[in-house]
This record gives sequence, structure tokens and C-alpha cells, in this order.
Amino acid sequence: MDWDRVVKVTCHTNCAYQKPCILNCYVKDGVIIRLEQSSAHPPSKDPDLPDWNPRGCQKGLISALRTYDACRILYPFKRVGERGEGKWQRVSWDEALNEIADTLIQVLSTEGVDTIVRLRGSGTLGSESVGFEALMGALGVPYDSIQTDTGDEHMGAALVFGQPFVGGSVDNWWYADLVLIWGGNPAYTNISNYHLLTEARYNGTRMVCITPDYNPSAIHADLWIPVNVGTDTALALAMAQVIVDERLYREDFLQEQTDLPLLVRMDTRKFLREGDFKRGGRDDIYFFWDSRSDQLTEAPRLSLRLGNAVPAMEGTYTVMTSDGPVQVQPVFERLKTHLQDYTPEKVSSITGVSPSVIRTLARDIARARTVTNVSTYNWGKFYHGHEIERAIILLFALCGHMGKKGAVYNAYTGNAADSLAGGQIPGVLVLRASASADPRYAQWKSQGYTDEMIMMEYAWEAVAQERVMPSCVFHYFHSGLLELSQQHNSWDPSLKRPLAAYVKEAMDKGWHKVRPAPDKAPSVAIQFGGSFLRRCKGTEQILKTLLPKLKLLVTADIRWTATALYSDYVLPAAGWYEKFSFYGPQKVDYPYGFVVNKAVEPVGESKGEWEIACLLARKIEERAQARGVLSFTDPAGNSRRLDNLYDRVTSNGVYTEDDEEGVTRDYYLNTTNVEQMSWEEAKEKGLVAATGLGLTTRGIGNACDVTPGEPLVPLTWHIERKEPYPTQTRRMQFYTDHDWYLEFGEELPVQKDDPKAGGDYPLRITGGHARWSIHSSQVDDPILLRLQRGEPLIFVSSEDAGSRGIEDGDRIEAYNDLTSFQAAAAVSPAVRTGQLIIYHAWENFQFRGWKHFKGVMPSPLNPLELAGGYYHLQSSSDSFHPGFSDRDTRAEVRKVRQ
Ligand code: SF4
Repeated sequence: MDWDRVVKVTCHTNCAYQKPCILNCYVKDGVIIRLEQSSAHPPSKDPDLPDWNPRGCQKGLISALRTYDACRILYPFKRVGERGEGKWQRVSWDEALNEIADTLIQVLSTEGVDTIVRLRGSGTLGSESVGFEALMGALGVPYDSIQTDTGDEHMGAALVFGQPFVGGSVDNWWYADLVLIWGGNPAYTNISNYHLLTEARYNGTRMVCITPDYNPSAIHADLWIPVNVGTDTALALAMAQVIVDERLYREDFLQEQTDLPLLVRMDTRKFLREGDFKRGGRDDIYFFWDSRSDQLTEAPRLSLRLGNAVPAMEGTYTVMTSDGPVQVQPVFERLKTHLQDYTPEKVSSITGVSPSVIRTLARDIARARTVTNVSTYNWGKFYHGHEIERAIILLFALCGHMGKKGAVYNAYTGNAADSLAGGQIPGVLVLRASASADPRYAQWKSQGYTDEMIMMEYAWEAVAQERVMPSCVFHYFHSGLLELSQQHNSWDPSLKRPLAAYVKEAMDKGWHKVRPAPDKAPSVAIQFGGSFLRRCKGTEQILKTLLPKLKLLVTADIRWTATALYSDYVLPAAGWYEKFSFYGPQKVDYPYGFVVNKAVEPVGESKGEWEIACLLARKIEERAQARGVLSFTDPAGNSRRLDNLYDRVTSNGVYTEDDEEGVTRDYYLNTTNVEQMSWEEAKEKGLVAATGLGLTTRGIGNACDVTPGEPLVPLTWHIERKEPYPTQTRRMQFYTDHDWYLEFGEELPVQKDDPKAGGDYPLRITGGHARWSIHSSQVDDPILLRLQRGEPLIFVSSEDAGSRGIEDGDRIEAYNDLTSFQAAAAVSPAVRTGQLIIYHAWENFQFRGWKHFKGVMPSPLNPLELAGGYYHLQSSSDSFHPGFSDRDTRAEVRKVRQ
């Protein structure tokens, strides 16, 4: 085989933790003929650290074929049959954009811009999206945050740290004495980085895998702990109980870094605050008992430094408040009592893990020099997932396993994209740009706010001002999912009030907003680079509730996704190596930004997203002028112009629609937290090391300095520099005295019974990211399908299959109160009895009758996710709003007679 040239390209499929991988792209006659791994990663500073090269996986390499396969959208299409019927008419770009622009203008001037929603995806996270962001921003259509509708939120981390973005780079695995794979499956999902785990084991690191099924990561672990599904909170609390009981905890760490010494009133279960002593006292001043002076002492707010004080962790004290004498206790004392419900003996029957295993692991964790975890996006997919995450973080905090090489708690490692040219995410404003212009900055600083806290102010403000809308909230209100949750309130036996009462209170108090308002219907949905009809839960409910409301559903994508197939217009987007893009450091587990190089021209009539946005802006402008509609009024009463959109998108014509490379170049050159080099050099290397976290909410929460070639260790600004955390108590906060948390008995982490989502059926559906596809990007690829039986499959335990007369390969139907779907049975002794496993991202059209497996997932709304009005419990783009969950779904299966 010969080729004309080899281009360095970067795989930017959203595989989250390990991207980017620099690949060699072989081009012949303008066609990609082959991709291969390269060794672009620079050497690490530590010569003992294993080489990171080569990087890449089968999904990245298959994109050479995916570029030209039958699923590519080659031309603009207009629907001519019913939605989803598959009847299309090929139209020109001009025709498609004309009709889309006309509908948008009509909706803007009648129903209003608040009825237009964007339903984003993760396919356009780099600079290619700036044009579309600028266009939507000019029109006043909010940025839709999809973090929670994938169930990827880390609410437990947000409760403890004040925001969910806490995590380190994966080379910390190498430096850990003990790695806990708990809530993740890196053998499937972290292929490019996985070798660091195996090499760490050669180096003496012990790997313990805690998971219900004997999954591919458990196979390689030193110890596998099979835990009953959804009982991880109890397991973590039992280990915490052992550590507290045997006094194996690091008291100095807890005294300084956490809320565990802060005093709580025994009568109200609320923190003791300044307001308890004087009228008008602040509710953000807290107290501990100084055992050195034997006095009540105000906890410092501007720093974590304790000075000479030694906060008492135990005991009961009497203090004189405005209400008279009140008994108070440190949180730690209350925790100690609380943990008595979680002795290994009591927890064993809940978790299925023997007391001796719990005790041994607890001691191992406490005595290890450094411990880290691999958790990935898992806990947010449980209804009570925030409790699991809080409890595991408590375990790490008790032992002080944070803030050192190899001692890292990993929740969601945020992307650090600090670009002055960016600001592409309105809720993730660039602080440095804002600081010079925002008079509040100096005021915040004078009040002792850290940059982290200031970023959170911007993030909350963006949601409050409806510049950001969590799309999950949209779907609960407008796609029928709230109705589904309300119909099935009994799914959560612990609810004290009807779900509707919590929703009403949260909306009345302004803790949450939804666009359009609940009494108004959405009219237009625009999907760029994603597929909400594949991704969201309760598929059939969405299809029958949301779609009939929409006058227009437009999808721009590379391939025929589920959402494209239900759309009214489909616009062909340029594929992986057919466009330029720059991505800031996407995930700090692999802290590099990268350039996506254009190796070939787009196939058919497809265009890059930048060009599509410019053309759509120009077309709206043209059609608005032709119709004499030069402006419209937004819901805030502001007049917005329609006759200058092209200039708004193109920075007054500085970048034209055919200057995708110029936009990308300047985006990179204005990114301030990556290595700087010439554009040509950056294109050649593909990879630029992060030099800082960037001043965005998604990066800054890791709270650490970044040194290229060194592991990124989060939270050192707190642990070494003693900067306060962005929480209500300004400490790592394990006690939440929000009224609703007290009502639910969840002020401390607690194991709760999961709701039987979908009805009272014996089997429980779990899942995870797939080995053979990144989301749905390659899920219908014929070659990769050969490696997984060619069709959607459900893993069923040998016991459950046997008792139902199911054999491996049989077609089975899974059903519950909502609906049913069919798939092939993969019978396996590695699956736990009572568990069904479906790895995600199968496309709707791969199921018989297009009945997707997410149709059986009602995703009941946990009202605690609506709690707000408490310093760090405020809705931002990524946390503290309802998220979709699926791991509580119950179902039964039966063999389908062929
Ligand atoms: S899909 Fe594979 S090749 Fe592409 S970035 Fe992820 S690990 Fe690398």
C-alpha cells in the first residue's frame, strides 16, 4: 500500500479521560487510508515513570473507515415523511438554511426566543463550536449543560468540596501504594492510560477492585471485592467506622481541612453560628471548641490555618446562646455515633462483604502511605449516588489521602480551557478577562474570596440569569420525565412529601429555572454534535411528549444518529480529520491541549461547524431583512438585532466562513494555560502541555499548580497553602445542615434503599461505558460489531439465565412498568445474580422496533438534587440540579420465541 503523505492528526472522539491521542494519518488521493498510533508524548521528568507512548485505541484507529462508511451524512436533507419514518429529500444548503432561518425568525417574533433550545452533545467541545456559541449567544439562546443528563455529575464531590471538579492526572496511579478501582472499569474505558496501572503493579502498587460483577478490571486486580449493587455507601461507612474505632485517622488533617471539628447544636441539628449569639449575626461564622484554651472559638474563614488552637474532635459542650444554654457537639462526635450503625457486622448483610474483609481493607487504606481511586462517571448514575461519593471521600479524608503525589481522590477531573478567544461557554467565563471588567472582583477579593469562589459566583449567576440551562431540567419539565417520576412516587419509599411539593418549593424559591417556563411549550430544538434521543433516559416518553411540541428539530452531525433520524432537517458536518480545531486541556487526568489537524477535505457536501454557523448567521440576517424583521424582544425585554448576526459571529468579519484555520490558530494562540509555540509547530506536534488549570470553573476546582511533566495533584492550594474551600463552612464539608438534608436524615452520609425505578422487578440494570465504542460514535461500526456479537446484548448471570430457561445467544426481552426492549443474551458467570449489564451507547435503530434500552429507565428525580439557597448548593452548569440516573432501574427478562 502506498500513500501521498502522512499527516499528524489528533483523535478527539470524546473518550474523556485519555484523549488526546496523536495518530499518523496516511492519505492517498485525498482519502484517509490508514491511521496508526504515534509516539508523540514527551518524556516525563521522572525517569522511573513508564513511557506514556504509544497512545491510541481501536476506536480512534477505526475512524479512517468511519469517515467513509454508509452512516455518514453527505448532504443536507429535509424530512418528507413522519418523524422517524425515514423519508428524506435531498436539498441544497441554501434551501435548508433558508427554511431553518425562516422558522427561527417566525418563532423569535411570535413564541419567543425562550422556546428555542439547543441540545448539545460532546462532539463539538473544541474551537469548532465558537461560531455556533456566538450565534446562540447573540440570539439569547442559553448554553445547555449536558453534564447531568448523562448522569455524569459528581454531586457528592460538590457537596464536600463545593464544586465537582476534583481529580489528578493518571500518573498518580504509579505513585500510589494502593489503587482502589471503585466505581470505574478502566480496562474498558481508559485504554490509553491503562498500562500505567499494570506498570504500577510491577512497581509494587496494590490494586483493589470493588465492583458487583467480575468485570474486566477486576480480573487484573490483586483483590476483587464483590459488593451488592448500590451498597457502596454502607461499605465505605463501615471502613470509616473501623478507622474511627481503631483511631487510625489523621486527626491533624481533619482538624484543619474539614468541618468535622465544627460544633452542631444538638437541639436543632444545625451548625452553631454567630446568629445563635446575637441578632443579625452572620450565618457563615462557625465555631469549634479549642481544647488548648478550653473555650468556644470562632473558626477562621480566610484561611484554614488554626494558629495555636487545637479543635476538639469529641465531647459534648454547653454554650450560652440567645435561646439560653444549648448542648453542642463537634461533627466528628456525631459522626462517631452515626457510624455505630455501620459496624462491619451490621453492614455485611447489606453489602455482601464479610466483616473481616471490610476490616482488613480499612486498615490497609489507613496504613498505606498513598491511596488513589479510579471512579470515573459512575456515582451520578445512582439515585442516591451523592451519598456513595460523600462516603468514599470521607474515607479518603479520614486517612489524609489527598494533596500528595499518589494520594488523590478523583471525582470529575475538569477541563482547563483558559482562552481569551474562548469564553465559548457563557457559564464558564474566563476569570482573568472578567476580573478587569467586573467591579465586583475587587470587592470579592477584599472579602477573602479565592479565585475558586469567584468562579463559582460566575457559574451560579449564569444559571440564575438563564445564560446556562441544565438540559436535564428541560427534559424533566418538557419531555415528560417529571410526570413519569411523579406517577411513580412510590419508587422512593423515603420521600416525606409528594415529589411535586419539593418541585414547587424549589421553583417558588427560585432555586431552579427552566426555559421555556413550565406553562410554555418549546418550539425549536437544535442539536449540534450529539444525540439527545440516544442519550437521555425514558426514550419513549421523550418521543411522545417532546417531539409533538416542536415545530422544528435540526441536527448537524457527522453521521445518522437517532436524533438525526427524527429531525426535520439534517445538516452534514465535517468529520474527524476533515477540519481544524483546538481543544484546551480537556481532562486534567491527561493534562494536554491539542490541535486537530485537517488531513483531507470533508466528504460529500459536509462542512465544518464553524462554516455552518457563519452561513446560518448570514442566512438569518438575509431572511430577517427580506421579511422586514430586523429585531425581536427577548424575555428580559431587551431588543436583539437580527441584522448583524454575521458580524457578531465573525468578529466583524475578521474571520470569514472559509477561515476555519485562522479561528483555530487564534483560539490556540490566545489560550493562556498551555505551552506556547508557533501555530505551525503546534500543528506539527499536535500536543501542547497544560501550564495551569485555567481560570474557569471546570479547571480551577482542582485547586493546584500545574508543572508540565509532573503529576497533577489536586487540592494543594487548600492542603499546602491553606486556602479555604468554596463551601458553606469554607472547609471540606461532610455535614450538610440544609433543611431538606435534615428532613431526609442525610446531614451525614447515609446508606438508603434505592427506589425500585420502573417497578418491583427482580433484576437490576447496571452498565457502563463500552469497550468497543466511545458513546455511540463507533457503535454501529461493522468491524467493531464483530467483536461484540453484532447487535445489542445484555449480560445475564448464569443463575438468572438458568432459572428462566435462557441460553447464551438467545433473544430476550427486558420489561418493566414502562416498556420493553429486546437484545441478545450474553450469559456469564461474571455477572452477579440479580444484575443485568448493558454497556451503553447502542443506537435506537439497533433495537427491534427502535425500542431503545433507555426506554425502561424512568430516571426518578431525587428531590435532594433540587435543594438550593445554601452557599455552595446552588445550580451551576455542572452540579446541584436534577440529573438522570439509571442504575436503580428494575426489570424482568424472558426469552423471546423466534
Ligand atoms: S478514542 Fe482511542 S484513540 Fe481516540 S482519543 Fe480516545 S483512546 Fe485515543
